[in-house]
Amino acid sequence: MKTIVGGIEQIGYGAELLRNGEVVAFPTETVYGLGADAFNARAVAKIFEAKGRPQDNPLIVHIADPADIGKVAASVPETAVALMEVFSPGPLTLILPKREDLPETTTGGLRTVGIRIPNHPIARALIRAAGCPVAAPSANVSGRISPTEARHVLEDMDGRIPLILDGGCSDIGIESTVLDLSKEVPVVLRPGAITAEMLSVYLGKVVDFKGKVLIAEAPGMKYRHYAPTCACQAARSPEVAAREARRRMEEGARVVIIGSTPFVRACGDLPVIDLGNTPADCMRNVFSAMRNAEKTADLLLLEDFSDRREFYSLQNRLSKSTGGVVLS
Ligand code: AMP
Ligand code: MG
Repeated sequence: MKTIVGGIEQIGYGAELLRNGEVVAFPTETVYGLGADAFNARAVAKIFEAKGRPQDNPLIVHIADPADIGKVAASVPETAVALMEVFSPGPLTLILPKREDLPETTTGGLRTVGIRIPNHPIARALIRAAGCPVAAPSANVSGRISPTEARHVLEDMDGRIPLILDGGCSDIGIESTVLDLSKEVPVVLRPGAITAEMLSVYLGKVVDFKGKVLIAEAPGMKYRHYAPTCACQAARSPEVAAREARRRMEEGARVVIIGSTPFVRACGDLPVIDLGNTPADCMRNVFSAMRNAEKTADLLLLEDFSDRREFYSLQNRLSKSTGGVVLS
């Protein structure tokens, strides 16, 4: 299959592909998504096939307008309406009971559905033009680093899908916060740019998902994620990163250190990628940095942010890339 990369002029064609049961990659403010008509189980199966994604890993259903939530959710609690008013469109996915007619292929066999309104003009124009809710996970090969640019999608999906809509770099850079409202106490299943602290203002009580996953609540959590093609470890401090980098470079390895501005500045003249100063900058740049670095490096050394609450969501992703290995 030939893969076309197009811009806004291809939105109409993208919508036609979706209506005809094909898959289309499109930009969102979090990461690029690989979409299909959420109500067409055969189309949704093509997403799983293109990604090599396990069947029990549910997809998020994207809608363009709050009024469409009733098309996918069986019931919509008042808290969901209130949260949508504040945070939608934006990087928040709400887990609600699913409608009977929404195929279980879309929800990975679950009775619940994750729903989000993306805040990207191309994503919303595409969904509106298609006229159906669009199921979409990140547009990477399963287990790989999430794509934040059209060229990342092309790396993983060339020849597997008909169309990639290019909408520039994703502004947020990590996936949406997933909040489960189907339980008595709301649970953050996946942290993102919208934090538990921000949500708790509207919910009273909300808990962060913690600990090892035995029975997966968000089935995606049990799979390895965000894995670069080369080795990847975290370093507690710039000193540790620099020492390890020098040791491995003496052995002939090509090493890249990735971290926030103060961290990489403290690494001297070693090869580094600077993610910026703020949590928002680091989230926006991290996946692209890893995809660039893995092309030439044998080892990535990532800054460990685990002691810093404001980098909590970023650290959630990094600890999956490293498999939890931290040098200190
Ligand atoms: P991705 O954004 O590619 O990682 O895929 C969507 C993720 O959303 C899944 O891996 C789950 O973590 C989460 N998700 C989607 N639907 C549900 C659901 N019904 N229940 C729990 N988690 C969900
Ligand atoms: Mg993903």
